[in-house]
Amino acid sequence: MNTAKWICASLSPMDAVPDFFKIWRCPASRKIEQAKLKITALGVYEASINGSRVGTFIMAPGWTAYEKRLQVQCYDVTNLLCGESENRISVLVGKGWYSSPMPGWLESEDKIRRRKRHTGLLAKLTIRYEGGETQVIATDETWQWRESRIRFSEIYDGEHYDASFEPSEDGCPVTCFEGPGKGILIPQEGEEVLEMERIRPRKIFRTPAGELVVDFGQEITGYPEFTVDARGGEEICIQCGEVLDNEGNFYNANYRSARSEIRYICRSGKQTWHPHLTFFGFRYLKLDPYPGEPTGDDITGIVVYSNIRRTGKIRSGHEKLDRLLSNIIWGQKGNFLDVPTDCPQRDERLGWTGDCMVFTKAATLNFDVERFYNKWLADLRAEQYPDGGVCHVVPNYLPDETPTCGWGDSGVICPWQVYQTYGNTQILTDSFDSMKRWVDYITNITTTPDLWTGRTHLGDWLGLDAPYGSYKGSSREDLIATAFYANAADLVAKAGRILGKDMSEYDALHERIKTAFRKTFPAYETQTEHVIALWFGLAEDPQKTAADLARMIHENSDALKTGFLGTPYLLHVLCDHGYEQLAWTLLLREKYPSWLFSVDKGATTVWEHWDGIDDTGRFWSVDMNSFNHYAYGAVIDWVYEKALGIRHSEDAAGFTSLIFEPHPDERAGWMEAELDTRSGHIRAAWRYTQGSVRIELDTPVPARVILKGEEREVSAGSYIFWI
Ligand code: BGC
Repeated sequence: MNTAKWICASLSPMDAVPDFFKIWRCPASRKIEQAKLKITALGVYEASINGSRVGTFIMAPGWTAYEKRLQVQCYDVTNLLCGESENRISVLVGKGWYSSPMPGWLESEDKIRRRKRHTGLLAKLTIRYEGGETQVIATDETWQWRESRIRFSEIYDGEHYDASFEPSEDGCPVTCFEGPGKGILIPQEGEEVLEMERIRPRKIFRTPAGELVVDFGQEITGYPEFTVDARGGEEICIQCGEVLDNEGNFYNANYRSARSEIRYICRSGKQTWHPHLTFFGFRYLKLDPYPGEPTGDDITGIVVYSNIRRTGKIRSGHEKLDRLLSNIIWGQKGNFLDVPTDCPQRDERLGWTGDCMVFTKAATLNFDVERFYNKWLADLRAEQYPDGGVCHVVPNYLPDETPTCGWGDSGVICPWQVYQTYGNTQILTDSFDSMKRWVDYITNITTTPDLWTGRTHLGDWLGLDAPYGSYKGSSREDLIATAFYANAADLVAKAGRILGKDMSEYDALHERIKTAFRKTFPAYETQTEHVIALWFGLAEDPQKTAADLARMIHENSDALKTGFLGTPYLLHVLCDHGYEQLAWTLLLREKYPSWLFSVDKGATTVWEHWDGIDDTGRFWSVDMNSFNHYAYGAVIDWVYEKALGIRHSEDAAGFTSLIFEPHPDERAGWMEAELDTRSGHIRAAWRYTQGSVRIELDTPVPARVILKGEEREVSAGSYIFWI
């Protein structure tokens, strides 16, 4: 990119999306051998050559820690050039994550700076002709720009398009500017974001309030595409929503300040359009105004997410459980759009580290997300504070936050889990220093050695035992923080050993934290405290702790009270200590609070709150009520590992050998999972038939089979067992 210069339309931010272009001729009678376009932007771009779109990447160049890392895409565009006639390259650059004012609720210096940033383009097209001669078309002062038909485009507020607007034939000269140094440019690291699926509306109807609404029957992330036959100048406005209100009317107050709106001015005649440089999270669309009444053939939901391959599939004999599993998969699709986000709709859509941390095991089993995580974790490392603290969101859009347990632990737990699922030590090599720095950070800032004290944390976020008016469950923050500290020290020691390092210092630290934890927290007060003490191997008497937890759950009418940090491990610790029936009871419970409560209420993705909509149909406050938050969907990792029994020991990362220990339950009838791993395809199934359970296993690797406490070793192959 050395010859290319950063260009912009104007040094002040502007709403209309600029169309940068350059027209040139290829030398006469020279055959083009190959043409390659290297391109990136401050903002998001869509490039075309001679009217044809370059590549299929949506929201390129993707979202990274822009000050430190900016991806450059490289496309083979040989087939798009016209030989010796006139050629035109044209690139739209929208604000994207780079200069949309994000996040919505916070008025920070950084956000103001972001809002004031102008977008920019850097590109270099290299054409190689037969005979070795090359021609370079790189962004510089010879490029021009003009206003495009996209009159406005931002992440939260949506896109405005004027199809009747005629972009001027004459371009204006571009401005070259200093831009970020070329040192931050990196090749494409993550998966490309693509239009992955297209869905049709389930129905188009009038609500009791008379609104014209499209229901896709599924919450998705992406954008709608519509076809209309209209008169020139007619207007369209489309708004997005996740649910209908109690009366069946359109609702999106929970998007908070995100307008999530499409505004479109028609040209005359038939036209088809979808937004280009933004995305929305939605199941419902309100069309007001809209020319005429569309049919199901006129509107499509285009589902956009990172190009991740599905690797895990589970089916069961329990319809509602299957719906929950499907909701979890849709939650991952909707929130894996280049960065793992908390939600895709309201004025956040940020890479909240804690949400990602609890969902990572599930994410790595459902889809092949190794490349996706490698990129995001590189951003996490790039954003790590000099003192080792890990920020709440990556890329960091929340300045001056104090790192907290659980969220900051993503810097340790995520690389470890990615390694565990895929068996590639590279992520540990890349992350080791950062993992260690997180542990050292805690050691340095804690007010009590070997415990983590003196800090306010996000705690068991959204735990149901939260005091009135608080988002935090009532589990003691020092207890949770110390447990995560112990776990981080342990994982750093394990990662270091795999890399051949002497980790005795961190082993000793882990032991000391464990001792201090036991001394300081001899008893546990909440469900989550029990869960955390068990899951991180800190409870002195695990069997008694599990029995106490089971009793607390029974006393709470067999219902959970856990939040973001307790819920992902709850069923695991119950099952690990002989309470698998209770784990199943919680999973299959339909009354509030439970996973299936939301299914009964019509959820098509996983809710942020156990009671996003309550029994009477009322919504949780608009403040914090997403219907597509994947965190509680972490429960699917229990279904793979414990319900179906597919897991591996820590020293068999990448599933090089299997521990097969299913925990069937008659209430589900039967269950089957298929899992594509780095060591091959695994299939496990069980079915209740006349009082016995038939269990099937296809394993590509040796397995330790544990059934009703009896263990046997088997080699790769297909097996049927009865219990
Ligand atoms: C996000 C969460 C996040 C939390 C922590 C919320 O606004 O949506 O999922 O983890 O804040 O503060």
